[in-house]
Amino acid sequence: MNLASFSLNPNDPVDSVLLKATEGKRISPKEGLLLYKEGDFLKIQMVARFLREKIRPHSEASYTMFRVVNYTNYCNVECSFCSFMDEIGNGKGYVLSKEDILQKMDYAMEEGADQMFLQGGVYPELPFDYYLDVIRTVKAKYPKMHIRAFSPVEVINLETITGKPLREVLEILKEAGLDSVPGAGAEILTERMRQIISPKKATVAEWVRAMETCHEVGLKGSANIVFGSEETEEEVMEHLQVVRDLQDRTGGFLSFIPWTFQPQTKRFKVRPVPTHEYLKVLGICRIFLDNIQHIETSVMVLGKGVGQLALYSGADDISSVVIEENVLRSFGLKTEKEARKFLKEGGFRPVRRDLNYEEVPTNLELV
Ligand code: SF4
Repeated sequence: MNLASFSLNPNDPVDSVLLKATEGKRISPKEGLLLYKEGDFLKIQMVARFLREKIRPHSEASYTMFRVVNYTNYCNVECSFCSFMDEIGNGKGYVLSKEDILQKMDYAMEEGADQMFLQGGVYPELPFDYYLDVIRTVKAKYPKMHIRAFSPVEVINLETITGKPLREVLEILKEAGLDSVPGAGAEILTERMRQIISPKKATVAEWVRAMETCHEVGLKGSANIVFGSEETEEEVMEHLQVVRDLQDRTGGFLSFIPWTFQPQTKRFKVRPVPTHEYLKVLGICRIFLDNIQHIETSVMVLGKGVGQLALYSGADDISSVVIEENVLRSFGLKTEKEARKFLKEGGFRPVRRDLNYEEVPTNLELV
């Protein structure tokens, strides 16, 4: 892309921030905030696209194939936006056995998904051995399967129930076969929003400690932001700053995913995010998070139209085909063939990758 194709005025305060980013210089949270509040969406989009091209040719975009397995919906955290959880002890929830989980992964393999995304509620009555047993059982049958599992709030629960230091808990999980961790459960990383969204959830400091320890023991993964409630623009930038600072220390985030809240419960106030704002925030993520290589968009949550535009606004990946997802309503692409067709129709060469962002072969090359 030729930057001369859009004019940035060095004397304009907002344009000068964008120019700084195109020169490979890091922008400050204050400058990111200026982009959010006063930036022109199209200029942000073009600069984000320009920066995306530096890490991957614009002609290609990637996707991956994993199955989400939610091992239990019992949870004691009670996030106000969550309709997935059941109260512990109410007898209506479920816990999947290792056999159930294996059966789900057998099906996933048949569908071409050779990676597992294992997550659930926070259920202190489940013993640590359950988690180890599940991971070992899946790995015994599918030794090459990548297992990404347990958000910060789940690993902190394991630290509590075992009474062992978090590092040791993670090392045991890794030894059992855990490959990487999701940066889920972040939503908005400010204490004010924690109190509004989920006061029982891990604090910002605990979230950072959990992720940092994961990265230190070699469990890399992703991070996200979920916006579209009562957060301010300042809080969005505060969140991005927390993630960028942590990434400077560990380098453990392979990708970052901006999502928007979906209406799930009456207790939680969702602010419908206009498409241009979502894309603007996505562009700011690409510009501000100069130390995270991949920016993903979620077709599952946002739909195909926005997903395609996102790939022209700084994103370079559409995450996974949806084999199963219990937590959110889904607009997702259901098969690999559908994902490839979607990317091709959007003007991209589809690249299949694994959860480590390594390109992997597919027998659908010609589709
Ligand atoms: S989002 Fe996760 S942690 Fe929060 S209540 Fe639902 S299951 Fe529990």
